[in-house]
Amino acid sequence: MAQANGLSTEGKSLIGTGDRPLRDNQSMSVATEVSLDGKTAVDTGLGWVNRYAALGPAFHTALPPQPLPAPYWVGQSRAVGRALGLPEDWTDSEDLLRALSGNRPLAGSQSVATVYSGHQFGVWAGQLGDGRALLLGETDGGLEIQLKGAGRTPYSRMGDGRAVLRSSIREFLCSEAMQGLGIPTTRALSVTGSDAPIRRETIETAAVVTRVAPSFIRFGHFEHFAAKDQPEELRRLADFVIDCYYPACRTSDRFAGNAYAALLEAVSERTATLLAQWQAVGFCHGVMNTDNMSILGLTLDYGPFQFLDGYDPAHICNHSDTQGRYAYGRQPNIAYWNLYALGQALLPLIGEQELALAALESYKTVFPAELEARLRAKLGLQQAEAGDRALIEGILKLLAQEHVDHTIFWRRLSHYAADSQATPVHDLFLDRVALDEWLRLYDARLAREDGKAATLMLGTNPKFVLRNHLGELAIRQARDKDFSGVAKLLALLETPYDEHPGHEAEAGFPPDWASSIEISCSS
Ligand code: AMP
Ligand code: MG
Repeated sequence: MAQANGLSTEGKSLIGTGDRPLRDNQSMSVATEVSLDGKTAVDTGLGWVNRYAALGPAFHTALPPQPLPAPYWVGQSRAVGRALGLPEDWTDSEDLLRALSGNRPLAGSQSVATVYSGHQFGVWAGQLGDGRALLLGETDGGLEIQLKGAGRTPYSRMGDGRAVLRSSIREFLCSEAMQGLGIPTTRALSVTGSDAPIRRETIETAAVVTRVAPSFIRFGHFEHFAAKDQPEELRRLADFVIDCYYPACRTSDRFAGNAYAALLEAVSERTATLLAQWQAVGFCHGVMNTDNMSILGLTLDYGPFQFLDGYDPAHICNHSDTQGRYAYGRQPNIAYWNLYALGQALLPLIGEQELALAALESYKTVFPAELEARLRAKLGLQQAEAGDRALIEGILKLLAQEHVDHTIFWRRLSHYAADSQATPVHDLFLDRVALDEWLRLYDARLAREDGKAATLMLGTNPKFVLRNHLGELAIRQARDKDFSGVAKLLALLETPYDEHPGHEAEAGFPPDWASSIEISCSS
């Protein structure tokens, strides 16, 4: 549900960044090493439980990561290190650098590539799987650690199992940006790089993102066992997800006690909340295939994503998406389409089609309610009034007509709410008559609030988002081995509602060249 600031903290509470009590081992250092089959394992002091690996061979293939030559740190998140319970000095550890680049095993880990299937661009794609990600295991703090770009697996198909520096920096920064915004997401502990050449459209270099989440299970994991007609594995997976992540479904009296229908409903609700948050902040995922949809409602698999510059419901951020299937304004419907695919996969467990359809219904009520709550918060309105929807629709129409910069508009409006003389909202519009008309209605509505609107808005409308050109500048520096741009952006994006004096450039309009950046599925 919406919190006082209009943003859910679900993403935060799932992982518990910052709230977790320090582990006993936090004063220890990484690199107590234990010998393991000739390769020296790196001991971080983490305890491991590896519950997914224990599901059995139908679910994954066990294999070690493939070493990346001469690795170096590109980016590190201390917040994620704390969430994991790593010792404070992990950022200086050469041994951990090697372990997270595939050169050494982590003591206690049990690395596997998981198998899944999925619908890509609306078409059944058959078996996919972790083609370049390896699940190292799960810590006893309930967090899975994955290396993305750790080499070929049985599911790599034609791919090389690697990830390039460019896309790895984007994933690292955006994971932590979403966390900073309060949007549920997988996290990223680090990016490590290497000069090993990787062939894409041009020759690039390799990198590994260390991702962290309670689970990386996707809708596609369920679709896999349903499509292969493996009902026992399907049930084992669903029971695993319910027991580990949705225990309330076991005791729910919804759907006559059908736990699988309750699971579908719970996933629908989380997905609806996630989509409301994406839409409210102007986030385009870019590749909402069912294999990129998290069963926990987390933002997952950052590829050609983009935060809107100008507001445009038809905006397509993925250069490979020629039909605009995943255009910004279509995302909510696509999420429902994907949930329907999940429902189809769960049908053998749910038993009755009516129950599955009833479980999906929640999306249709939760999404609009959550979106409206968030848009109301963006306007600084704490109490719901009958005319609010018209007010919201009015401003979205104006923004769309002129493709007004989304982030800058909402931030300026937040300052306008504090002092209507102090901020140049008008500068953003050509049709100032229409804007004035809307502002008159808005002023009248604000007058019925209790004076806290601006505070609410400044905590709801971020000053900083990871615009494509900001990522691009950090990537260019990183290619020259200057990683300061990555660290600087991370610091801004971790607290995107703060003013960060001296960083007006990062909060400004995109430069002209930004519109020529083409981000495709190539990563
Ligand atoms: P994505 O478009 O990144 O969500 O990936 C779709 C599927 O392709 C997943 O099964 C990935 O593991 C796989 N894949 C993407 N890139 C590579 C790569 N370079 N090597 C191997 N598999 C890949
Ligand atoms: Mg994917």
